[in-house]
Amino acid sequence: MNHSFENTLEFASNCDKNDKLAAFKDQFILPVNQHNLPQIYFCGNSLGLQPKTAKEAINVELEDWGKWGVEGHFHGRKPWFHYHKFLTEFAAEVVGAKPIEVVVMNQLTVNLHLLLVSFYRPSKERYKIIMEAGAFPSDMYAIESQVKHHGFSYNDAVIEIEPREGEFTLRTEDILEVIEQNKNEVAVVFFSGVQYYTGQYFNIPEITKKAHEVGAIAGFDLAHAAGNIQLQLHDWDVDFAAWCTYKYLNSGPGNVSGIYINEKHCTNPETPRFAGWWGYQENKRFLMQKGYLPENGAAGWQLSNAPVFGMAVHLASLEIFNKAGIQNLRAKSLVLTDYLEFILNEAKKTNANLSFEIITPSSERGAQLSLLTDNKGKALFDHLTNSNIIADWREPNVIRIAPAPLYNSFEDVYHLGQAFNHFQG
Ligand SMILES: *Cc1c(COP(=O)(O)O)cnc(C)c1O
Repeated sequence: MNHSFENTLEFASNCDKNDKLAAFKDQFILPVNQHNLPQIYFCGNSLGLQPKTAKEAINVELEDWGKWGVEGHFHGRKPWFHYHKFLTEFAAEVVGAKPIEVVVMNQLTVNLHLLLVSFYRPSKERYKIIMEAGAFPSDMYAIESQVKHHGFSYNDAVIEIEPREGEFTLRTEDILEVIEQNKNEVAVVFFSGVQYYTGQYFNIPEITKKAHEVGAIAGFDLAHAAGNIQLQLHDWDVDFAAWCTYKYLNSGPGNVSGIYINEKHCTNPETPRFAGWWGYQENKRFLMQKGYLPENGAAGWQLSNAPVFGMAVHLASLEIFNKAGIQNLRAKSLVLTDYLEFILNEAKKTNANLSFEIITPSSERGAQLSLLTDNKGKALFDHLTNSNIIADWREPNVIRIAPAPLYNSFEDVYHLGQAFNHFQG
């Protein structure tokens, strides 16, 4: 961190005046408290805010359904027959992929299973999966059930990498070493992009390179990375990835997921997969013939026809990302999160009631900072909530705070610091 920050309202408001992305805040609906005051929202890592364009996007589809009935598949303003295509380019832009490598479909955990069907192809010798310890529960259960499905035991087939004694996050060198140690047995290296609990941004290109060096597949769950950091999945040669769209991507609770499959795999019709009619070659889909012929690219992994209402909201959100530019968002995010770190450290200096440690590595992070607290942690979290600030609490003892560059301001961060100053312990 190399800024001359100040802990004053004037400084924060000047930063906002100079922020070219500041106006995007107006495109979102801010939740309000019981006195109808807008809350300061730092929870975009869990559920992003609603774009004001979301309602209209759903309305368009409701109207077309009303007007056209089944004919909406071909005559709607955005024909449902190939609705996913309206999203592909924007989604590819967000994750640094070629459009052929991306499709939006299903939900995240479903997609992880589908991708593991394609890319976890264990043999007697090469069957292990290497992942971070303490992964998001859904990922742990997905991996556990996959290895059992193939007849392996969890303890034998899954290698979880733990931080070193006294440390909270993983060192890249240790990850690479575990891959090396298991070079003849590892089938898939599967990591999150940004760790949900610690906020650590893993070194995706290094992990991918090492996995390939030993003959393994590299896959990533980008739930906390998509829309947060600047990904370059294609250039990094990642094999597969999936993400949800309701966190930094602001597309609404439980909404659809995106997948990425590297060009070399997704354009090969022989790449194994579970199939459904919507992934069938589009020009022959309605011939209803026997024998699966996949659409070229990631689109050939689709199973069902698209859930258009959810997709419409995701599209509305992706249009905002396209206007703001992921590169600009990341540039702002880096400074905003550095400012958050500065403000939190200032509060710790002034208020002796505060005891927490920021465990998110300063050189490897997205928007989120994770504060490891002590037995007063829950009280601190409740104090923030009572101060009109929405952060989130993760058992056993972490407060996560994530300033989202699309709708959080430097003033938001300043006010958060004031709330920390007033904590009485
Ligand atoms: C949020 C999150 C999920 C959620 O999965 P859903 O299938 O969308 O419910 C899964 N994995 C990770 C790493 C997450 O952060």
